[in-house]
Amino acid sequence: MTPEPQIGSTPWRASVLTLFPEMFPGPLGASLAGSALKEGIWALETVDIRRFARDKHRAVDGSPSGGGPGMVMRADILGRAVDAAHGADDPRPLIYLSPRGERLTQSLVREIACGPGLVAVCGRFEGIDERVIAARRVREISVGDYVLSGGEVAAFSLLDAAVRILPGVVGAPASLNEESFEQGLLEYPQYTRPQSWEGMEIPAVLNSGHHAKIKAWRRAQAEKITKMRRPDLWTSYQAAHDGVRKKDG
Ligand code: SAH
Repeated sequence: MTPEPQIGSTPWRASVLTLFPEMFPGPLGASLAGSALKEGIWALETVDIRRFARDKHRAVDGSPSGGGPGMVMRADILGRAVDAAHGADDPRPLIYLSPRGERLTQSLVREIACGPGLVAVCGRFEGIDERVIAARRVREISVGDYVLSGGEVAAFSLLDAAVRILPGVVGAPASLNEESFEQGLLEYPQYTRPQSWEGMEIPAVLNSGHHAKIKAWRRAQAEKITKMRRPDLWTSYQAAHDGVRKKDG
């Protein structure tokens, strides 16, 4: 069974450490995530890393030890920011958004959404001093095999994906189970009005009112699309289903 986020009396809490606090809530202040924020289903706090710099220029970075291009975020300053946001008994995972991290997937999103929230460190420049990662039990998470200019955009993705599955955020929770990745498959094609558009009709089965047939058609479509576009997902889906068949049989 996939874990379900529980309705709690305290909101799911996100703290974001960033050099650009003015970027937040940004896209998370609109639509589903924005309403949920106003309703107190989740809470968002930003921590300005620069506040923890002590020299008069408030510099947060230094040149890479050993040489090379760019700048690196300093361990002492970031360390102080992390400790201010994430006390020793804070149950929330401490996450560094990083292209070197484990890949963000729907099951990882679900795992995080089921917890009490998160503390996210957004890197800039060439990234952060490795010693912070080593010293503070940091979990590195990547949003994909490409390089962003900062962790903030990655944090938006992670937070948006986690918040939308918190109880009470999406109107019809059933719609979540049907979605891409939730069953290990990509989603089936969706249609709505008008019935005919540019000479293309909605597949007849969808207007048949025959729920079992619609379900079977959707499943077949989802399988076909997954097989074609994502052989990697298809292989794990098949393996999982063979497992179920063997257990049942
Ligand atoms: N020099 C680094 C890239 C630094 S990019 C490297 O080659 O690995 C600057 C910041 O953007 C990173 O510190 C990280 O916080 C964020 N970032 C970039 N790409 C990301 C990705 N795919 N997933 C998550 N965060 C990313």
